[in-house]
Amino acid sequence: MLTTDDFPTLAPLQRLVDSWISATGKGYFSPLTNMAILAEETGEVARIMARRHGDQVAKPSDTGASLADELVDVIWVAAAIANQEGIDLTEALRLNFDKKTRRDAGRFGLPAKTDTETLTTKNL
Ligand SMILES: [Mg+2]
Repeated sequence: MLTTDDFPTLAPLQRLVDSWISATGKGYFSPLTNMAILAEETGEVARIMARRHGDQVAKPSDTGASLADELVDVIWVAAAIANQEGIDLTEALRLNFDKKTRRDAGRFGLPAKTDTETLTTKNL
């Protein structure tokens, strides 16, 4: 069974994004603009995945695109939206894991794993 101690705090991420937006970005974009940016960044992830694993062929302009960087763009703008909406992502993460654990218990034909002891950076 997962406990609160099993979850990383995302508060430093939320504070870092907030500090950057305040200091460098000079303020938050409107929530709808950030929603559009989230869709844009998700599309950039999709573009890379389509060319890497799908039937699309990369164009010369696709050279240098970084999946890692685009995934962080998604996380970054999601944190900004969470900040604007007053969402504690640490608590939201815990609740999300609880939801998935309950919903998917037995879904894949194996006993549901209820701890993170087997999770490492190698098998994540
Ligand atoms: Mg991007």
